[in-house]
Amino acid sequence: MKPTNPVYTGLPTTVFEVMSQLARTHDAINLGQGFPDVDGPEDIRRVAAEAVVNGPNQYPPMMGVPELRQAVADANRRFYGLDVDWRTEVLVTSGATEALSDCMAALIEPGDEVVLIEPLYDCYLPLVERAGATARMVRVTPPDWRLDQEALAAAFGPKTKAILLNNPMNPAAKVFSDDELALIADLVVRHDAYAICDEVYEHILFDGRRHRPLMTLPGMRERTVRIGSAGKTFSLTGWKVGYLTAAPNLLDPITKAHQFTTFTTPPGLQHAVAFGLGKDDAYYGSLPGDLQAKRDRLAEGLSRIGFGVAPCAGTYFLTVDTRPFDLGDDDAATCERLTIEAGVTAVPVSAFYRSDAPGHFIRLCFSKRDDVLDEAVARLARWVGDR
Ligand code: PMP
Ligand code: GLN
Repeated sequence: MKPTNPVYTGLPTTVFEVMSQLARTHDAINLGQGFPDVDGPEDIRRVAAEAVVNGPNQYPPMMGVPELRQAVADANRRFYGLDVDWRTEVLVTSGATEALSDCMAALIEPGDEVVLIEPLYDCYLPLVERAGATARMVRVTPPDWRLDQEALAAAFGPKTKAILLNNPMNPAAKVFSDDELALIADLVVRHDAYAICDEVYEHILFDGRRHRPLMTLPGMRERTVRIGSAGKTFSLTGWKVGYLTAAPNLLDPITKAHQFTTFTTPPGLQHAVAFGLGKDDAYYGSLPGDLQAKRDRLAEGLSRIGFGVAPCAGTYFLTVDTRPFDLGDDDAATCERLTIEAGVTAVPVSAFYRSDAPGHFIRLCFSKRDDVLDEAVARLARWVGDR
């Protein structure tokens, strides 16, 4: 038989699914895949429930219900001072993942180069390769996640079509500094490229940090696509409602890719997310506040046991150094072992690199109930003590 497409043929199942399955099999506490174990605000869920019961439940407008597109435009102004036309500059997608896929399909051509910064969220590389482009990798590594500015500049060239930037960054929990953002913007403008910005953690920054979209930097408004997700902003990861903001000439082809990918996103969920985006400042303050306390709770527990814990400026994730316990340099094996022997599941950080990754770092998700975090720490402490 003729070969199926080589990008997806033989590709392993995503590490998140693999580790969640392993956690289920061994009844382990799942701090692997990134999702909260408490659903987001009840009032948002009630708006969805009522919208589903009352209907209509038929195809909504292809670009998203006007109410949500207006709410996305309003949020751009409220949080970042961006002036956005909801009719021509906002698209609703079935999750940030669809938004990323639409961007790759619509902006990238075979032969293009796309700059990526490792560690990478799992779908980035396959999407770039399926678009026929070559990935030009730059890497940051734990524990300091420092961006080598010369390496970044060297990754840009005449064939660069875009950079795909995840800020705040999963799994590094890095928030790019103003200087780093300025350098990225400068490189994008100088190479007449686009910036595709995955900002799903835009409201999950800690220690008083404020998110600064690359789109707000000089010269970037016209060449940046900004992607958000209700999954992360409202702790409703199963809903898969994403939203994308871009200048009309970029949004138009991206919308055409959306038109033939999902076409629309469930209308009831869209109405509820529109309601959520309008929530008051107290909500947007408590989301990172609660998660910061959880970060500290897990980090302190792990440090007490003796693990190394890398700094975490945002997102759901801690990167943990396993070297103090001589667990070897196969982090996937370490995660399997911790699941089976300690009853705690993590994700190997090497899964976020194409090759030559450090092998002694694991990612743990702290968007869990306090008692769950405490039990995970207790289990790890027992396991370490028994060795
Ligand atoms: N980008 C990053 C960096 C993520 O961590 C995730 C996981 N939520 C996504 C994109 C996908 O978001 P969604 O579930 O809205 O597709
Ligand atoms: N974003 C989540 C994580 O990093 C996983 C989402 C998924 O499983 N696709 O763990």
